[in-house]
Amino acid sequence: MIRSAIQPADATRRFLDGSHGLLIDGRWVQGEGRAILVENPAREEGLCEIRAASLDQLDMAVAAARAALSGDWGRMGGRDRGVILNRFADLLDANVDLLGEVMTLDNGSPLSSSKMVVRFLAAELFRYYAGWASKISGESFEPNIGARPGQDFLVATMRQPIGVVGAIVPWNAPPGMMAMKMAPALAAGCTLVMKTAELAPLVGEIFGRLWGEAGGTPGAFNIIHGHGEDIGAAMAAHMAIDKIAFTGSTEVGRKIVHAATGNLKKVSLELGGKSPVVIFPDADLKIAIPAAAMACYLSTGQQCMAGSRLFVHAEVHDQVAEGVAAFAKTLKVGDGMEPDTILGPAISARQKSRIETYIDIAKAEGATAALETAPIDGPGHFIGPALFTGVTAGMRIEQEEVFGPVLSLIKFDDEQALIAAINGTRYGLSGSVWTSNITTALRLAKQIDSGQVGINIHAAMSPETPFGGNRESGWGRELGREGLDAYLKTKAVSIALGPKI
Ligand code: NAD
Repeated sequence: MIRSAIQPADATRRFLDGSHGLLIDGRWVQGEGRAILVENPAREEGLCEIRAASLDQLDMAVAAARAALSGDWGRMGGRDRGVILNRFADLLDANVDLLGEVMTLDNGSPLSSSKMVVRFLAAELFRYYAGWASKISGESFEPNIGARPGQDFLVATMRQPIGVVGAIVPWNAPPGMMAMKMAPALAAGCTLVMKTAELAPLVGEIFGRLWGEAGGTPGAFNIIHGHGEDIGAAMAAHMAIDKIAFTGSTEVGRKIVHAATGNLKKVSLELGGKSPVVIFPDADLKIAIPAAAMACYLSTGQQCMAGSRLFVHAEVHDQVAEGVAAFAKTLKVGDGMEPDTILGPAISARQKSRIETYIDIAKAEGATAALETAPIDGPGHFIGPALFTGVTAGMRIEQEEVFGPVLSLIKFDDEQALIAAINGTRYGLSGSVWTSNITTALRLAKQIDSGQVGINIHAAMSPETPFGGNRESGWGRELGREGLDAYLKTKAVSIALGPKI
């Protein structure tokens, strides 16, 4: 029973109380692996119990994906794949209330954010890639120097699906994380085995149901549950999976790379971050202060692009520090089902205690707690926003990803030292620069070593915009045209034209 002032809709309750399973080859089956008790992090109550896939069931899912690749799905033209992806997008919109509530109960996100992820990230991604499905093409050209002098030949390139994709996603925004892999992979003609995150697995099941409703080919999209250390690791090492598309922590990304060496499968990685937000004195502080606070605190800091390092010019340092602390105090922490909640809980007791450990580390390193919220009574893994001033480059709180609402404020007055500090972590995912001087903004944008930089905006995302990390924040790019290319391989076909004349 879920205790909240706002009860979920009947459809959500029916879904939670109904049967749960794995979608393998178009059929729902009970998992034969470990039991997973799915918890509502805002209430510390069980939502339902599901079962992970066994290793045999993983093999069955991979076999189904391979059969679909050489069967109906593989034979389907891009135009028809696009029709299915568009239908899937419409079904996401039509089920936004169910998907949003399930995401909120599963991972604690405020309901409005959950619905936004469904509509403006997931559904729009499917629409965007539905368009690409019919526009995949190679090129042709006549090489300048032939393999055989005196012979003319023509080269035609074919763009073909990479094959069977193993997708592994985190818990923080399941509809978006799944769509970022599923939509381009299916548009490219690949087939998938998607492993849900054990901490928030339920939205994956709804995706599986909607795949059937959209008329998706059985076996082209399979959903399995499982823990990372067994099923995730087995996917990474699986000899019949051609590519792993992974989003999660840098530590696990590294393990996946090692595990993938057996068949040298392709690997794309979207990993952690420690993104900088830079405020210059000429920034519009009315906008920059709340934006900088939310760059870090959004999703209770549990987002890969979190702007967890706030670099502020000495001239406006105190004003920004006071402004961020004052703004943070207005953010309501609570159950994501309550309409006025801005910050939901941490995903788990373990994650909450990890965040608290980082708060202790910051204090031990000599940073000043400019804002520390009082402990919040349970049940629920709640933790309020924290702000540290006096942070300097090299402190652990400045270097390591907390994945929680802990913001480090770093004073700067020298641009060269600023750039060195910004690029002085192992991460390079995102960042933003706040100034009214476009030259300053572009000079910084050029030098920040990260996959995306915002100018007077943080963490802007759209289906068309390539997204990914530099250095230990990832390999490759998702979204946009590059996101499609990541699921295609190129074959060069050379055609002899006869002797050169
Ligand atoms: P995590 O790495 O612990 O888990 C992510 C997924 O990997 C889960 O499905 C898990 O089951 C699986 N996994 C765990 N061990 C595995 C193994 N040995 N082999 C294969 N799979 C394994 O990460 P998390 O705690 O779920 O998510 C938080 C992390 O994800 C943060 O570091 C965050 O920055 C990152 N993240 C990155 C992006 C991005 O796009 N760059 C987006 C969201 C989250």
